[in-house]
Amino acid sequence: MSGLVLVIEDEKEIRDLVRYNLEHAGFKVAAFADGDQGLERLFASRPDALVLDLMLPGKNGLEILREVRSEPATRDLPVIVLTARAAEMDKLLGFEHGADDYLTKPFSPRELVARVEALLRRARPDRGPGILEVGPVRVDPLAHEASCGARKLVLTPREFELLAFFARHPGRVLSREELLRKVWGYDYVGETRTVDVHVRRLRAKLGPKQSLIETVTGAGYKLVPGPRPGER
Ligand code: CA
Repeated sequence: MSGLVLVIEDEKEIRDLVRYNLEHAGFKVAAFADGDQGLERLFASRPDALVLDLMLPGKNGLEILREVRSEPATRDLPVIVLTARAAEMDKLLGFEHGADDYLTKPFSPRELVARVEALLRRARPDRGPGILEVGPVRVDPLAHEASCGARKLVLTPREFELLAFFARHPGRVLSREELLRKVWGYDYVGETRTVDVHVRRLRAKLGPKQSLIETVTGAGYKLVPGPRPGER
């Protein structure tokens, strides 16, 4: 099977074992030891599944799960939680917060691979085409194609991710900080100009439809389906 699996696990031996076995099964793997870093990469890299340890430095597994489930783009992400042997309580809490499956340590790596594959088989048919449409803007994340009306947009990977993120949140004001965190995958460190530069390029590529990305003074940007009344 193919796809990207994000692994957040602070124990190096387990992390390496999980990575090795998933890669051997044909998956791409991005692995992180720290909850905060893992969550940032998760929002930036759009994995197909998440293998999540509960006890982590930085954000813990339950906090991560809560954020994953509250964000529309990742709400349906298949998540397997790894729990310590005696942590029955954690197991229960994991389900309450929306884990799809769990494994108790120590677990068989083969079992983990089988569970990931099973979750992906279950998740994929339900995902539908996954095409996002906002007015004339159309984004197909699976095919990695974007268009505006009949015109195909030629975008850099970052521009594509930015447009896809806008399209997942039509009409919602997105702050530069949020865009940095969820599209670029890093915390706000004062480089919000990066966002402005990419929005400018994206608008240039939208050409006559560039007003669909509105600037909301003091707040950020939003993608709207059409011009406001009185505008063309
Ligand atoms: Ca741990």
